Amino acid sequence: MGTTPALLDRLTALLGAGAVSVDEAAFRELPPDLTEIPSRDPDVVVRATTVAQIQSLLRLANETRTPVTPVITNTNVGGLAIPTHGGIVLDLRGMNRILEINADDLYAVIEPGVSWGQLKEALEKEHPELRFAYSLSPPETSIVANHLMDGLSNLSLRHGATGQWINAIEAVLPTGELMRAGSAAWSSSWCSRSPMPDLVGLFVNFHGTTGIVTKMAVQLWPNPKFRRRVFVLAYRYAEGYRFLRRLVRAELCDDIGGLSWPLGKMLFGDPHPVYHDPAEPVLFCYLDISAHFEREFQARLETLEELLAAERREGARFDGPLDIAELVSVEPGFQKFAEFPTRLDFLLDHPGGGLTWIGTYGPFSQMDRGVEAGAQIMERHGFPPAIVSRPMRGGHFAVLRLLAIFDRKNAAEVERVAAMNRELVDAVLPMGFLPYKTPAWVLDRHGASIDPVFRRLVGTIQTAMDPNGILNPGRWLKSPPRK
Ligand SMILES: Cc1cc2nc3c(=O)[nH]c(=O)nc-3n(C[C@H](O)[C@H](O)[C@H](O)COP(=O)(O)OP(=O)(O)OC[C@H]3O[C@@H](n4cnc5c(N)ncnc54)[C@H](O)[C@@H]3O)c2cc1C
Repeated sequence: MGTTPALLDRLTALLGAGAVSVDEAAFRELPPDLTEIPSRDPDVVVRATTVAQIQSLLRLANETRTPVTPVITNTNVGGLAIPTHGGIVLDLRGMNRILEINADDLYAVIEPGVSWGQLKEALEKEHPELRFAYSLSPPETSIVANHLMDGLSNLSLRHGATGQWINAIEAVLPTGELMRAGSAAWSSSWCSRSPMPDLVGLFVNFHGTTGIVTKMAVQLWPNPKFRRRVFVLAYRYAEGYRFLRRLVRAELCDDIGGLSWPLGKMLFGDPHPVYHDPAEPVLFCYLDISAHFEREFQARLETLEELLAAERREGARFDGPLDIAELVSVEPGFQKFAEFPTRLDFLLDHPGGGLTWIGTYGPFSQMDRGVEAGAQIMERHGFPPAIVSRPMRGGHFAVLRLLAIFDRKNAAEVERVAAMNRELVDAVLPMGFLPYKTPAWVLDRHGASIDPVFRRLVGTIQTAMDPNGILNPGRWLKSPPRK
């Protein structure tokens, strides 16, 4: 798919010469995909900052059957913003205004380019009594893109995946029409998704195939006065996960994460952990505990100690709880877990530059099996078993994320990591762990096992909203544009 001079002329007339680029230098300025998935350049990059620009861009793309792939910082780790069929990459980084912080009704209305770091700064300055939740993605990445991908953050144990926290949205449809969903479709308040038919869901987990979201209301929460983050170190996976399952049911924590030993060692400053000394812990359990009142807070901390004591009486071995604030004074690497959003530099700033994972949501009851199977496969392929696990929404489901860093310039290593990822999906999918931010290759490989009526309905919805198939083709089994 190329672009004709006539199309470029019309794009330039609509958006201005400064917003349209076809040169190699502009392609290199786009944030690169981090994964092993084969990348490709767009034919043209367009930078939009207003809703009207996006509407006229999509009308033109629709008329000329030109693919459009929206992107913000391209850190989705699923190849979801690769312009698989060429055409236009729509860079939305410049559309980054916080339009409203409604402290009374606990929400913020933001544009797609607003980052975690930006919203945090605004809240700290203007509304320290409120907090937002933060993912482990770099501070400059997009909140809207994350919520559209139904991501996970440090309040997901309490509130679930981030797609569930969207109150309302505004989106430009591929035809150029502008629509609102949630309470904003009927009211000036962006306070709720209920009681409207839930058309917000038309944009969640559709990976940009149904519309370009231009505004989103995300939920805020009261900022608790008391907060402590600790690590508890477990020496056997089975003991570690049994403890975490019990902890989830005690409803003590805002956030619980289980990091396997290579990630623990990376935090301690070892960039390439390959050897596990049996005397070292296998699971670094990260716990975030908060409360609005001191007595409640003390009771939570005491209950944690009691639960650990009970585990120890059953013969389990744990170290901790180790206060992260104190750990930072011994090992500055722990600063990365002292406050969010954070930059996990050991995953991003290494010479090879590649980061990939099989990130899944599945049953917490199957976590031990998933971790064990995943670790074996990763070690067989020569990668340290770097694994993140996280219970979500009160333990109703959980994250299992098997991650690897690799050298993107080394073709053999790229193929090795791709083969490992295929094997990992093949192993954990039958256990119920469904890949989130689902890469196209996973759907090509395993899409046949999705309920056929569901699959057909997804296609019907995509076609109804995007009759010419211009938006992010290749994602969620979507075909290239119809000529
Ligand atoms: C080290 C690291 C840690 C991470 N940790 C987490 C984590 O803890 N939790 C988590 O959930 N994620 C995590 N991520 C993934 C990712 O960084 C976040 O989800 C991030 O917020 C995504 O923002 P982005 O700007 O990179 O999105 P992009 O990759 O630019 O876009 C993501 C998808 O949204 C589509 N899209 C973009 N804008 C729009 C729009 N306006 N309308 C419709 N579709 C659109 C794109 O086409 C693409 O399909 C992590 C990534 C890294 C590298």
